[in-house]
Amino acid sequence: MTRLKVTIRGAVQGVGFRPFIYRLATELGLPGWVNNSPEGVFIEVEGNPVELEKFLLRIQEEKPLLAVIQSLEFQYLDSLGYSDFEIRPSAEGEKRVYVLPDIATCQECLAEIFDPTNRRYRYSFTNCTNCGPRFSIIEALPYDRGNTSMKKFPMCETCRAEYEKPLDRRFHAQPNACSACGPQLQYWDAEGRVIAERDEALSKAAQAIRDGNIVAVKGIGGFHLMVDAANEEAVKQLRARKHREEKPFALMFPSLELVKEHCDVSALEERALGSPEAPIVILKRKSEVSFAPSIAPGNPYLGVMLPYTPLHYLLMRGFNSPVVATSGNISDEPICIDEREALERLHGIADFFLVHDRPIVRSVDDSIVRVMLSREMMLRRARGFAPFPIHLGEVLPPLLALGGHLKNTVAASIDNEIFISQHIGDLETEKSHAAFVAAIQSFRDLYEFRPEMLACDLHPDYMSTQFAQSSRIPVTQVQHHYAHVISCMAENEVNGPVLGIAWDGTGYGPDGTIWGGEFLKINDISFERAAYFRPFPLPGGEKAVKEPRRVALGLLFEVFGEDLFQMKDWEIFKAFSPSELDVLKSMLTKKINCPLTSSVGRLFDGVASLTGLHQMLRFEGQAAMGLEFALDGVAVEDVYPFCLTGENPIVIDWEAMIFEILTEVQSGNPLKSISAKFHNTLVEIIIKVAKELGEEKVVLSGGCFQNKYLTERAVRRLEDAGFCPYWHQRVPPNDGGLALGQVVAAFRETKRSDYVSVGSGKNY
Ligand code: ZN
Ligand code: ZN
Ligand code: FE
Repeated sequence: MTRLKVTIRGAVQGVGFRPFIYRLATELGLPGWVNNSPEGVFIEVEGNPVELEKFLLRIQEEKPLLAVIQSLEFQYLDSLGYSDFEIRPSAEGEKRVYVLPDIATCQECLAEIFDPTNRRYRYSFTNCTNCGPRFSIIEALPYDRGNTSMKKFPMCETCRAEYEKPLDRRFHAQPNACSACGPQLQYWDAEGRVIAERDEALSKAAQAIRDGNIVAVKGIGGFHLMVDAANEEAVKQLRARKHREEKPFALMFPSLELVKEHCDVSALEERALGSPEAPIVILKRKSEVSFAPSIAPGNPYLGVMLPYTPLHYLLMRGFNSPVVATSGNISDEPICIDEREALERLHGIADFFLVHDRPIVRSVDDSIVRVMLSREMMLRRARGFAPFPIHLGEVLPPLLALGGHLKNTVAASIDNEIFISQHIGDLETEKSHAAFVAAIQSFRDLYEFRPEMLACDLHPDYMSTQFAQSSRIPVTQVQHHYAHVISCMAENEVNGPVLGIAWDGTGYGPDGTIWGGEFLKINDISFERAAYFRPFPLPGGEKAVKEPRRVALGLLFEVFGEDLFQMKDWEIFKAFSPSELDVLKSMLTKKINCPLTSSVGRLFDGVASLTGLHQMLRFEGQAAMGLEFALDGVAVEDVYPFCLTGENPIVIDWEAMIFEILTEVQSGNPLKSISAKFHNTLVEIIIKVAKELGEEKVVLSGGCFQNKYLTERAVRRLEDAGFCPYWHQRVPPNDGGLALGQVVAAFRETKRSDYVSVGSGKNY
């Protein structure tokens, strides 16, 4: 038995929504409740996962005619043992003003833009009360046109009449506009000279894509770079110009039918694709050869989205075939939002620009969702979801968490809710720093938020940590993996004691080593490191993160010591030049710039190197992804040997596993079976350590759990062994989820008896 919790926002009040939910739940025999609150409709039902999924899918399919869903968030939680279904009285209380996310074009607006008799025929900025831009255009509250970037467009008489008529679909639709009064399209060459305007701009852009050009398209929350997905030359060109060598590109398809031709789409994935949030959904592709091979080299999955604004619908209808739609930026900078800025920053990348004059107030990237274990897992939380909060069971003081370094987000607690910013990106450049500051500023502008305490990572060199420490507000530093696990506990509404398993690439450990293969025992206020992987040296520190060959060398040095360098004919040495090897040898033997790590992410890198899959990485997580893809469709149940040493904490020794991998590589065993055995071994380690520690609730977090095979197998094996596993749903397992964990961890800190409220706390 599981509990499904659904929060629906939109035009769902006074349209018979609660009776509809009552009928649906009773028909399916699911106990629980529904109620209305000023925030929307809340539903909880309990049952087996198959019935719960049916219930979820039927909400969208069978909802009352007049109901419009602007946002539907759901999560699976532990059962509470409801016995019947009831309509609970509406929740009273003050109405909190929520800033809505940007909402994908609704069916009615869609019909209008393709209806030649409608006054909005082919108008790219058509929207209504139920759809269109929100978060990306709001400057301040209250949400009135004057406080949005639509203020520069005075409504024409017809639009104003719609806006003022209570029964109109556009009553108080703040971005309401038409071609007579609203934003307009322009099509520019690479120098910003206007080539075409309005409808002609669309057809020119579609033609340019067809001709193999790269077109920068200003959408709702920023720019995309688009090329024809079938044109290998164009895709290669985009990679070269964007300095993005191998990281997969997302695709925008003109229709769901076409998606289904090329990818396997489950009912849940179809729901996500067509939802008001319209995220990128990671789908299994049907054959490797469809589309340009460079889109996602060696990758059995594709990141796919459907059009979500009239502009995208019109462009895609004109082009009528999938396009690559990747963020308009250079490597991991924030996406461009302003057309003049884009002209500069995307100079040399885009051949043409399809732009408009509705200013974007803040960048909002496409969200990314992956379905595993019949649930959604958020990999990037941005458009469609931000800035909706995560609810907590208790009221928190105003805390601001500054997140990590990569995939940064920031979060603020207001009463019993935690507002998480949209994905900001890696805090490596001035541009991303500015976006980070702007996101913090947004909490102030939108919620009059004034933090009493800041929470940040323990890493002294993170820009976010330094930002916190330079403020005059008390700071609590939260250990990276502790924050990961706490974020997963918070969204799953689970309290301690739990065993938290946090596996990722890198996180600062309080003992000065780099953590990343952690088993943390967590009670209600603090944590204890209960087990970790045997640490090994990373020659070159940060540099090793991009070079699996260095990681492999570090692993082998940990086992063989200096003798390693006697085994001259080993394959691994061929990955280095003689001079490189000399330098690394002296670094390792003299322990210079060779920090120790227990990271599982690095273990993936090491195995990728030893098996010859990758010696150098082109993007973060590439080795782990490569190993996951390699075992695709392989049925191998075997595991490698490993052992647990030490008692408190337990140390997981991977030496025997690495030995056997070396032997298997030597005897030519295929990568796919080595990879499967490696994954299986990691899962067996989880089971064995969990049994050793005996905590019933096991919480899985950290970037490694974006891996579908690892997560699904770990969850199933844990369940079979009698444990209660928890994993991420609404918040990413990667560092995008850290800010949520930091807020809650800092709050827990205030409950400690030895807590001191002034100055920068450094209790972990
Ligand atoms: Zn609409
Ligand atoms: Zn108008
Ligand atoms: Fe992490």
